[in-house]
Amino acid sequence: MAEKRDYYEVLGVEKTASAEEIKKAYRKKAIQYHPDKNPGDKEAEEKFKEAAEAYEVLSDPQKRQRYDQYGFAGMGGAGGFSGGGMSMEDIFTHFGDIFEGAGFDLGDLFGAGGGRSRGPRVRRGSDMRVRVHLTLEEIASGCEKKIKVRKLVQCKDCNGSGSKDGMTDTCPTCKGSGRVVRQQRGIFGMMQMQSECETCGGEGRIIKNKCPKCGGQGVIRDEEIITITIPAGVAGGMQLTVPGKGNAAPRGGVNGDLLVLIEEEEHKDFIRQDSDLIYNLLLDMPTAVLGGQVQIPTLTGDVKITVTPGTQPGKVLRMRGKGLPRIDQYGRNYGTGDLLINVGVYIPEKLSKDERKLIEKLQDSPNIAPGSADKKSFFRNLFG
Ligand SMILES: [Zn+2]
Ligand SMILES: [Zn+2]
Repeated sequence: MAEKRDYYEVLGVEKTASAEEIKKAYRKKAIQYHPDKNPGDKEAEEKFKEAAEAYEVLSDPQKRQRYDQYGFAGMGGAGGFSGGGMSMEDIFTHFGDIFEGAGFDLGDLFGAGGGRSRGPRVRRGSDMRVRVHLTLEEIASGCEKKIKVRKLVQCKDCNGSGSKDGMTDTCPTCKGSGRVVRQQRGIFGMMQMQSECETCGGEGRIIKNKCPKCGGQGVIRDEEIITITIPAGVAGGMQLTVPGKGNAAPRGGVNGDLLVLIEEEEHKDFIRQDSDLIYNLLLDMPTAVLGGQVQIPTLTGDVKITVTPGTQPGKVLRMRGKGLPRIDQYGRNYGTGDLLINVGVYIPEKLSKDERKLIEKLQDSPNIAPGSADKKSFFRNLFG
């Protein structure tokens, strides 16, 4: 790329565009310049990469802010953009899900010819998607999950070659190149047309004796137990990529990836808010008035906290570092969230005779009426 174009201009959006608008705009560009739609078109490939770079920055609130403030100068160095040198594979790994529902088979994007590859075609297995359910405890510490998947694996009988005796022959039609060249007369004279060899399906080699177990495919459907390492701090909706753990490709190609969609289980005590956790603490009236110690759950076990005398309902206590690890889009950790304790006071709904007498007695006592309270600062406290 000669001159770098403004990222907003690249995606054709306003500087004020919402995250959703940016995603939509990128999806449109990515589909328009998709290598499968523009085989062999270098300019389209550059545009495709340019859009991916713009999207990488503008889809990340921190990077976007830095870009807005400093322009391209803000993008270098640690945590900045990877340098504009994203490979096509990187783009699909990072942003592959943008094509969901766009009619592309991710598994066929690479090596599947289309004019982008030279020489014999190397097949790539298709990607697989799985969902993993995680508790907040698992998210807090990170964990390993073993999951059983049914997928295409290499046939052991033929070591994935598809050949009974392990022998393959060079394809006689294309002489091993996987492509055939035809001369065709066009309006500008003779033209060379290249296409995939039909005899060998572009692989350059043919099998004489097919393996009976896999029928010459080199792959069979089987179960595999895969261990997935989940980094601490992930959130529902995130997708992790486990390279090479997707479906195996026919006859010794490259495995697809396993795409792991994170789902978060609801927690009995905590509500998650990004990397912070919220806990609703209901105090009894005497403790709120007199102060005291109460037990609070955290993800790493119960702790005792001191409630100061005169604690008002609506007060929020913050326990620093007792939330979840914060991670960026690459899974790098940058600190830990807090546990926010949302204090409420329980006002009894049913009273015994004696209790009623006690409260009635309190009612007439001089410090009970809120008359002396500074209402303004009291309610500001609640919403501050
Ligand atoms: Zn086989
Ligand atoms: Zn051939």
